[in-house]
Order: sequence, then structure tokens, then C-alpha cells
Amino acid sequence: MRDYRKILEDLAEAGGLRTIPPIRHEGRWVVKEGERLLNLSSNDYLGLASDESLRREFLLWALEQPLPLSSSSSRLLTGNFPPYDELESLLAESYGREAALLFNSGYHANTGILPALVDKQTLIIADKLVHASIIDGMRLSGATFVRYRHQDYSQLRQILLRESARYEQLFVVTESIFSMDGDTADLQQLVELKHEFPKVLLYVDEAHAVGVRGYNGLGLAEEMNCIPEIDLLVGTFGKALASMGAFVVCSQALRDYLVNTMRPLIFSTALPPLQIAWTAFLFKHLPEMQSRRNRLQMWSRRLAEALAGRGGERSASHIVPYILGKNKACVEAAELLQRKGFYCLPVRPPTVPPGTARIRFSLTADMEEEELAQLLACIGESLKI
Ligand SMILES: *Cc1c(COP(=O)(O)O)cnc(C)c1O
Repeated sequence: MRDYRKILEDLAEAGGLRTIPPIRHEGRWVVKEGERLLNLSSNDYLGLASDESLRREFLLWALEQPLPLSSSSSRLLTGNFPPYDELESLLAESYGREAALLFNSGYHANTGILPALVDKQTLIIADKLVHASIIDGMRLSGATFVRYRHQDYSQLRQILLRESARYEQLFVVTESIFSMDGDTADLQQLVELKHEFPKVLLYVDEAHAVGVRGYNGLGLAEEMNCIPEIDLLVGTFGKALASMGAFVVCSQALRDYLVNTMRPLIFSTALPPLQIAWTAFLFKHLPEMQSRRNRLQMWSRRLAEALAGRGGERSASHIVPYILGKNKACVEAAELLQRKGFYCLPVRPPTVPPGTARIRFSLTADMEEEELAQLLACIGESLKI
């Protein structure tokens, strides 16, 4: 029998034990052991989840609507409700694509799409640092997959040159903003590769970019002007959109095929219609949130500059790593910043490569300038120890 207790003790010894933090929320703050800390680890990038007036406005409206708190079924049986179809139409129209399809989460999307679409004549080629959900999707798919060095498009091209004749189709999979370094993919270059290798389908996970990037907040593909070239553009609603769920925009054929084959879509109860309506409510507000996006960019640049040489130079977004290397140093720096009132968390291997334990700052647009100044001062202090 495996001694799970002992394994956990060893993990704790090595500084790698995960626990669920006992915290409470007060808007932009987290209350931990009686102390109120500014939340610098949330994915509420635009500050919409903590915006009380938006929540009120929605709930007052929703009270008068026939919006159940459960769909009580998969969408393919009796779980489809008008808000689903309306949000899908809104997404397809906003992105200027034929179709959109909703999922219960980004995890469902990424573990379901590839297994549904591939066969033995498919090769999947993914960036080394893609999210765990994409890795799980590749594994579940049963297709052959290879990974190219992070953002190394010349290696990707070599793989394509070597392999493309041997397969019927190839998926190139990347995130647009990467979760741990906050760097951005060069989607234009990937589109060029797709033109060079016509069997390639591009799959881009915009989980961290939807809401935050692009003139209408549609993501990095909007900013880089290449939405029509992305075959499967995946976005999530649990981050900047302050809700829950995910979507893909794609061709009508791919959407219809997913409806027929994608197991997490077919075999799971659909999200509550009320939740979908909240997502749609916020999504409609996105174009007018440019000032929030600008502010987020401004704060992010300042934090990245302060952390230049310590990981800040990697970031091109609101996710800014502060790399400390060893687990212990990282945990200590996080504790110091927490004592100073900033809720930031250590991220350790295996979530990040060995030797790159880090604090992962994810900023939000509702941070005050004074708070940023205080944070920069505290980081300065932590750099000295
Ligand atoms: C958060 C995240 C997901 C998972 O999305 P959920 O809706 O939280 O399940 C998928 N991909 C990336 C890149 C993410 O950061």
C-alpha cells in the first residue's frame, strides 16, 4: 500500500506541499489570519469581479429574468437555454468568425478539443510552456505530440519541415500570453508558418489575454490583427471576464464536429444560465473598458522595469515574474511581501522549471498608483536580502 501520509510529509519537507489557503475576500483585498492584504495573485485583471456596482446592476436585472441557477443537463439533452445561443452569436459576431462554442471551463476546453479533432494521421506540436490543461488534452488525444522550445519558432519550423509530409494535418498549439513568464507569442510569425505549411491548424489559448488585450478586449490576436487566421481561438471567462466558462471561435464545420465528438461538452452538465447571462453582460461591456486596459498596461510596465534582471524583462503583459531561483528564497520573499500587505504567492517547480521558483505577480486595473509605489518600495527591500 502507498503511504500517502509519508509522501505528503516528504513533500512538506522539500518545501513543495500544496494547501488550499484559508482566506476571505473583501473586494480587491484578501483577509488572511486577520490581516488585510492587497490581492496581487488574482486573475481579475480588469477588476470586474470586485466591481460591486456591476454586480448589483446585473443582479437587479437578473431578478426579473427567468434565469435558472442550474441547467440540469448537458446542452445536448435538455440543458440548452437561450443565453447560451445568444452568447455564442455575440462571440462569433465580435470576433468576425463563423461560429463559437461554449464550454464549462478552460480546462474542459483544452482537454476536450484536441481529443475530439485528432486521429492517428495528426501531429500536435506545442510550445514547451503551454498550460497543464493543454498537456492533458494532448495526452488524452492519443495522437503523437512534440514540443518546441519556448517561443523558438525556428525549431518549430524545423519540426514542420521534418514532419509535415508524414501527417495529414498538424496542430500548432500555443498560449498567447504565457501564464508563468507573462511573455507573449508572436502570432504573426505563427500565421506565416501556417501559410508556409498548409496542413497546419493554429490553436491559440488566449486565457490571459481575453478582456485585457486588443482594442475591443478580444485578446492578443485582435491586437496583432490576425483573428481570421487562428483556426481555434480559445478564451476563458474565469479570468478578466470575472465569470466562469470558456469558448472557442472557429469555423462552423469545426464547431459542428466538436458538438458531435467532444466528450467534456457532451457528457457534462452545462453551466447555469444565470452564469452565462453574467458572462454576456460583462462581455458586452468589454469595448468600453479601454481605460482599464491602459492602466493595467501602465502599471505592468512599471513593475516589469523594477524587476528587470529578476524576471521582469521576460514579461510583456500584466503577468510579471519575480524570479528568486531557490524555493526557500522564494517563499521568504513572498512572506516578506505578505507582511507588508501584498498578497503574492510563491510558484515553485514542478509548476515552473527547476531553479526558477518565483513570485508571480498578476496585476489588476483597479490598483491605485500609491499602492503600486508601495509595492515597488517593498520589492526594493526584498532585493536587498
Ligand atoms: C486558467 C487557464 C486555463 C483554464 O481555464 P479555467 O476556465 O480556469 O479552467 C486554460 N488555459 C490557460 C492558459 C489558463 O491560464
